[in-house]
Amino acid sequence: MDEKKVLEALKEYRKIDLKYEDGRILGSMCTKPHPISKKIVEMFLETNLGDPGLFKGTKKLEEEVIGMIGELLHNKNAFGYIITGGTEANLMAMRVIKNMKNRNAKILIPETAHFSFDKAEDMMDLKFIKVPITKDYTIDVDFVRDYVEDHKVDGIVGIAGSTELGTIDNIEELSKIAIDNDVYLHVDAAFGGFVIPFLDKKYKKKRINYNFDFSLEGVCSITIDPHKMGLSPIPAGGILFRNTPLKKYLDIEAPYLTETQQATIVGTRVGFGVACTWGIMKLLGKDGYKKIVSECMGNTIYLTKKAREYGIECVIDPIMNIVALKDENPNETCLKLREKGWYVSICKCVNALRIVVMPHVKKEHIDEFVEVLASLRV
Ligand code: PLP
Repeated sequence: MDEKKVLEALKEYRKIDLKYEDGRILGSMCTKPHPISKKIVEMFLETNLGDPGLFKGTKKLEEEVIGMIGELLHNKNAFGYIITGGTEANLMAMRVIKNMKNRNAKILIPETAHFSFDKAEDMMDLKFIKVPITKDYTIDVDFVRDYVEDHKVDGIVGIAGSTELGTIDNIEELSKIAIDNDVYLHVDAAFGGFVIPFLDKKYKKKRINYNFDFSLEGVCSITIDPHKMGLSPIPAGGILFRNTPLKKYLDIEAPYLTETQQATIVGTRVGFGVACTWGIMKLLGKDGYKKIVSECMGNTIYLTKKAREYGIECVIDPIMNIVALKDENPNETCLKLREKGWYVSICKCVNALRIVVMPHVKKEHIDEFVEVLASLRV
């Protein structure tokens, strides 16, 4: 095939894909990357952070980006990586716990945890204890405290922005338990990490403790993904650790590379995720992210109101830009919506449809969607 034919053929495949801008993707935590990404990807296309000695500029960018995210999370000394996504980030944190303890590590994890932790359990010598959730759909802190005091536990996982409902576990209490009992605490803020720091006061609820970062002394590591609400192109996940000594629990000898230790799970890895995250964070600044988060929260509230007008109720008053709409048979409704061109996802912890109000979801899409959903119920 010549180049023209190749590109024409690829265009046909691409036509089959859904497009964020059509507003029909309502269940994804990813969105259309910031427009500057195209230029940055072109500039950094061939870079490989798996061999950082060859791409010293890109490696420097990664260190700077980790510094910027570290500052956002109140820890200038954090070390970490921009990797493939939240899954790799959580796997890396679980590897640290496993290697610190050097035996079958026991880890407390909320029932609301993302399935990437199931992969970790499957791949490593770990034993997860699933902690029940309270009526607010957050980790039962009393259960954690009692369990940790009565058993030998190596790690605790808390979620700041659960995948299904966007709920925030009481990380401050988990941090106290972790310190008192010398247990490693990992916070999965894959989604919430680029939301919570930018939430306007008017969207915050009194009964929720929004503290989730390194300002809490018990927090040892945080997953925070630029390719979700950070607006970076995929792949750009983030893992930050409290301090550099933890690196030794990740390092594997890599004798034939320019750096002889490698900490990430993926070997050869793109550099453009780092460059895009650096560029987008510099370009948007805190005010830019605040504006984006406020728009998403405004649209989230709009969706809840619109749904209520049609008698469709929410499972909880949304905490971030994730809405769970009660539905007796979410699997069936999800399929019917798909036939009509709308792609939502479903919750596992409760009978509900799950909608993530990402920046590509606008009021006009919400209007159309709610009408279609209501029409399925009559
Ligand atoms: N953690 C949380 C809380 C998530 O919501 C997700 C994805 O939705 C992940 C981890 C996994 O992220 P990724 O799909 O980027 O691997």
